[in-house]
This record gives sequence, C-alpha cells and structure tokens, in this order.
Amino acid sequence: MMLDVINPATEAVICQIAEDDAKRVDTVVRLARAAFEDWRATSVPERQATLRKVANVIRAHADELAELETQNTGILLKDAKDRYLVRTAANFDFFADYIGQSSGQVFEQHPTYVTTVRREAIGVAGLIAPWNLPLALGSMKIAAAIAFGNACVIKPSEIAPLAVIRLVEIISEVLPKGLVGIVNGRGHITGSALVDHDLVDLISFTGGTETGQRIAAAAGAKLKPVTMELGGKSANIIFDSADLDRALDAALVSIYANNGQQCLAGSRILIHDTIADRFIAAFVERARKIRIGSPLDPLTQLGPVATAAQRDRMLTFFEEAVAQGALPLVGGQRAAGLDRGYFVEPLAVEAPSNDLGVCQEEIFGPFAVFIRFKDAEEAFRLANGTRFGLASYVWTQNLALAMEAQERLEAGVVWINTPVVREMRAPFGGYKQSGIGAQGGAACEAFYSREKTITLPRRIEGLPIERLGI
Ligand code: NDP
Repeated sequence: MMLDVINPATEAVICQIAEDDAKRVDTVVRLARAAFEDWRATSVPERQATLRKVANVIRAHADELAELETQNTGILLKDAKDRYLVRTAANFDFFADYIGQSSGQVFEQHPTYVTTVRREAIGVAGLIAPWNLPLALGSMKIAAAIAFGNACVIKPSEIAPLAVIRLVEIISEVLPKGLVGIVNGRGHITGSALVDHDLVDLISFTGGTETGQRIAAAAGAKLKPVTMELGGKSANIIFDSADLDRALDAALVSIYANNGQQCLAGSRILIHDTIADRFIAAFVERARKIRIGSPLDPLTQLGPVATAAQRDRMLTFFEEAVAQGALPLVGGQRAAGLDRGYFVEPLAVEAPSNDLGVCQEEIFGPFAVFIRFKDAEEAFRLANGTRFGLASYVWTQNLALAMEAQERLEAGVVWINTPVVREMRAPFGGYKQSGIGAQGGAACEAFYSREKTITLPRRIEGLPIERLGI
C-alpha cells in the first residue's frame, strides 16, 4: 500500500511512501541481526570513530535534512537548523564521548574471589518514533542503540518520515551495511510487526500513552524490555514570588514553541491568584501578537500543526472547554488569511477546575490552560492531579519554596526558573502514565546494554573444590 506524505503548511502531497509489511520488516531485521554479529565485537575506539563520522556526515547534510524536516512537519526552519539538526549530530558525539568514559564494577571484598560486572550489547533494538520531532528524537535512539554495540531498526511515524528516511540513507554510507535499518508504515501494520519480531530484542518507544500501553503489552508478551516516553500535561507553576517578566516569556515559549507539539509543553499554567489577572492579561496580549505563517519564513513564530486531525482537535477541545465553563482567552479559530495548511491561532482558556477534559487530556498543540491557585498546597495538588508525570516548571525566587516544590511534584523532570533545558547526561523520563525508563547517558546505557557478572578465584592454592565421585 502507498501512503501519502503531506506538507502541513500547504496540504500538498509531497510524495508517497510504500508501507512495509511483516515480510519486509523481517528482511530488514535479519540484515540488522547479521550486522550486529560483527558490530558487537568492535572496540570502543572503533565505535567512537564511527559515531563521530556519523555526526560529521549529518553536519555536512544539515541544511538538506532541516529543509525536509520542516517540509514534512511544519517545524520552523530556523529551529530545525539551529536546534534540532545541531542536536541530531550532537547525539552521536555525545554517545561517542560517553562510551569512552563508562566503566564496569569490581567487587574485591571477598577474600578469595574477585567479581567483575561488565556490560554487553543486547542485539537488535526496535525504535519507534513520533512525528513531532522526528530527527531529534529518532537520532537519539539510533545513537544510543549503536553506541552500546547494538544494531537497530527504526520506524518513524508515517505522518512525518521523510527526514528520518534521508538520515538513515546518509548515515548508512559510514556505517556497516544493515546496522541501522528503517521500515515505514502505519503503527498497527509495520510498527506492530517490528515489536512482535522474534529477532527484535528490545523496544524504545516515544509516542502517545495509549499507543505505549499497547506496545508495552505486546512486548511484555515476549518479555522484551521497553522504554516508554509518553504523553504529558505538564504544570507550569507561577508563584507570586516569581520574576514575572521571565516567567511570562517562558510561559509563552513553553506552550507555543515547536508549534505547541512538545511532550514536555507547559500546557497547564497554574497561576497564584494574587497575580493572576495581571499575568493572564499580559500573556493574552503577547499570544495575540505571535506571528503565524510559513515555517520557511524566519519571522514566523508559530507554524502549522502536523495534521488536519490535530488542527480539528484543538478547535474541538476549545469549544468543549468553553461549553463546560472555561473562559476563552485567545484563539479558537483557524488562523485568519491562511486557508491552506493546518494553521490555528495560539489558543488559551482559563479553566474553573482541574477536572475539565482540557486540563486532563494531552491536546498536543499550541493550547494553554490557566488554573488559579491560592497557596502552595493547592498548587502542588493541582500539579499532581493528572495521570501524567512528565515534567514540571516552577517559578519563584523563594529558594525554600522551590526546594519544596521539586520534592512534592510527581514528575520525572522539574525545571526551576527556566524553560526546558536538556542535559543529555541526566535522565529524561516520565512518572506515572508518562512513561517507563528514561533517555540520557546512564539511562541509555542501562537500557541498551545488559550486565554480566564474572567471578574468578584470586588464587587456587588452598581453594579445594569438593570432589564428587571419588
Ligand atoms: P502515537 O502514539 O500515535 O505514535 C507513535 C509511533 O508509534 C508512531 O510511529 C506510530 O505509527 C507508532 N504506532 C502506533 N500504533 C502502533 C502499534 N500498535 N505498534 C507499534 N507502533 C505503533 O504518537 P504520535 O506520533 O501522535 O506522537 C505524539 C505523542 O508522542 C504525544 O503523546 C507526545 O506527548 C508523545 N511524545 C513523548 C515524548 C517523550 O519524550 N515523553 C517526546 C515526544 C512526543 P503511526 O504514526 O504510523 O501510527
């Protein structure tokens, strides 16, 4: 079957891709498995050199890859170039550095034996990536999988596969044949064939929570380890002790950057009631002025959302929220003057309660929800009052309050007085239904390699072994 690949800024069909069935998935997985047999035996310096070559070849093709990413996702071209392509290449350099420094363990406490623990590659990793940041997220998975000696097969989202397809083509020029394979198609056809394949040893998934539950169940049936980077409904808590100018800039960026399509978006803005009127008014004024338009235009601040379904989802959530008593603040319409493309105005509402669907469901677009709180206790209760637990943001200049907040928040990451900062050495992963496991230096090492314990005697004199059969 052929699948249309669409430019969300123009609605034009860019091309069609062939959907890979289970037979084709089998071929790609077997090639990866064959490549793994040699790759697992490569020395660390060899692997480091290869990873650095991959980073360089990505940098040499950065403009081409960024343009494809923008064409297929609507990500602003300047962000694709300056952020995501930089990160795509850096992912390979990062893991090259990491494996040069990692070490095993030695236990010498036993008087006569010494025990070491070392890590080994596992096999073929199945990598399933979403459409919101295909290159940045997909490349992190590929880099981690191969750095620790595995082969991998990636399935990008069928909505936005083009840059990842080209990435795999480009990096394959400097990698052993088949080491990084790619399969294309819809999740329930191609993705599930990859998850089920007996030669796929582990699954790294980034996507929605419901899809993650299905994949974890399928992988669990074969006892395959999984990491799940899932959805979020992250609280951005703004106390009256915050630096409000910086908090305002950050609140806008946290929900409207990357066209609002970020798992870690600060989509629930919890605002201290003493400053709420002033803050919300300033937010709305700025949101109204956000420049919507072509992602190719360097002046654009908000591009299209990825699909027509996503656009309609924004508008439906807005309507439903207002019907349930939310106060409309900004947006709710398709963007004026942009008839082609999946453009919406930035959206925001104020919700009377955290129970509304708009406060509980991940909308995954440029849609902010404000909720007022009276004191820190209420703020923490609201922040933790969802099934998600990916990230939280806290704005206060009161150090004791910031420290209390980071302890009380049920989230895998807490950013204090800053919008998102990704520290690659640290784990990034969600609590509750936002995921299982994490991405980052040691977290990836733990997932993409397995431990082996080796014990041997320090000396054999005076170490008799019971002699059976004598
Ligand atoms: P989906 O869950 O719809 O899809 C993710 C991937 O899984 C796609 O490649 C999809 O293929 C595939 N898939 C779907 N069904 C199956 C199946 N049964 N077996 C195997 N693979 C399957 O997520 P989206 O692509 O819509 O991405 C948005 C979601 O990703 C949001 O919820 C967001 O929060 C989350 N996300 C999480 C991040 C994190 O780090 N926690 C980071 C970025 C995004 P297809 O597209 O063909 O259906």
